[in-house]
Amino acid sequence: MDVTLVDRGGLSNGTTGHSHGLLHSGARYAESDLTGAQECIAENRIIKDIAGHCIRDTGGLFVQLADDDPDYFDAKLDGCAEAGIPATVVDPEVARERVPGIADDLVRAMEVPDGVVYPSRLVAANAADASDHGAAIYPHAPVEDVHVEDGQVTGVDVGGAVEDTITAEFVVNATGAWAGEFADMAGVPVEMQPTRGVMVSVDYEGLGPVLNRCRDPDDGDIIVAHETEAVLGTTSVPVGGPDEYEQDQWEIDRTVEECAAMLPAVADAETVRSWWGVRPLYAPDEADKGRGISRGFFLLDHAEDGVENLASIVGGKLTTYRQMAAAATNLVADRLGVAAECTTAKERLPGADDPDQLDTFVAEYDGQGATDADVVGAD
Ligand SMILES: Cc1cc2nc3c(=O)[nH]c(=O)nc-3n(C[C@H](O)[C@H](O)[C@H](O)COP(=O)(O)OP(=O)(O)OC[C@H]3O[C@@H](n4cnc5c(N)ncnc54)[C@H](O)[C@@H]3O)c2cc1C
Repeated sequence: MDVTLVDRGGLSNGTTGHSHGLLHSGARYAESDLTGAQECIAENRIIKDIAGHCIRDTGGLFVQLADDDPDYFDAKLDGCAEAGIPATVVDPEVARERVPGIADDLVRAMEVPDGVVYPSRLVAANAADASDHGAAIYPHAPVEDVHVEDGQVTGVDVGGAVEDTITAEFVVNATGAWAGEFADMAGVPVEMQPTRGVMVSVDYEGLGPVLNRCRDPDDGDIIVAHETEAVLGTTSVPVGGPDEYEQDQWEIDRTVEECAAMLPAVADAETVRSWWGVRPLYAPDEADKGRGISRGFFLLDHAEDGVENLASIVGGKLTTYRQMAAAATNLVADRLGVAAECTTAKERLPGADDPDQLDTFVAEYDGQGATDADVVGAD
């Protein structure tokens, strides 16, 4: 297939470059969403195989503090077993050896194969891979209009670096939290309920594993370990649209306070950076569910809405990006009559073994996001 990718900004302009950067093992979803948990562990293993220096294999701990419900911990452990996620209960002494600054009221912990993603590198390596396979990639090229005639997209007006109308046999809307706006241009329904979240990165040398609070998902219950920073997050507040939303100080304060319950020293550590991201949650008739809106992904075939050659891929997580791309690509291949196997689970990404090469790709696609600004391009 001849592929053209356009993005209105640099390639990490959207949510991916403003996420928390946790490579989920699936344990976070194990007690509530078996399918989501299974998807995460499958992709976690694949990404660890193919992505090299786009990730860091730190492992993760779910920590139960004195006030946390022990039954929730047990339910998560059972869920991990059911989803095939390796999870080992460790005593407080063992957890304290791994994380010397962990809270005094730690009751027990669960070791899981979480990791850290550097999104800018991951995005740029995927773009380089697509380019090696013949794709044309244009950052700073916003879609400004979509023409539909007789149930077909006949052209997409692209501004910025392209300033032209692109015609294609099939069009995929992969604009995340902006998917509803793209869909409006094409006259098809895609109901998004974006929610914002804040990340606060503090000076913290050598935190080993990712830390997760073992309780019902809430504000400030994950600490992602970078080499010299600890990235605290996050919150989940519905917003009217992905571009303009309030950024409230209480979310920053609450995130730090809650994360300090797991790792007290972060309360007084110097804040180095903070940033906000907007979740691309798909929510037909689910707008009032808040944190309960599905984190799973949806592939919407707009043939069902009367536009034959258009699909939207929405929702999901950074951890499941490859699976989302495979699902969308398989739909297009099927529609165009292309019989080829998806190989992205087996082929290592270009530059995976060479951080400098990865950072060159990031520069090439103007792909520096906020999440890994302390790592990418660093000496
Ligand atoms: C606070 C927060 C923390 C998160 N943490 C994690 C985590 O730790 N682990 C995890 O697995 N997931 C996490 N997620 C979820 C994950 O980040 C997202 O689900 C994922 O990155 C979305 O990817 P995407 O490609 O669908 O959207 P995006 O990354 O937003 O990409 C969409 C792209 O479309 C472009 N675009 C929009 N409109 C147009 C247009 N008109 N023309 C051209 N281009 C356009 C945008 O510029 C953007 O680059 C988090 C999300 C949030 C908000």
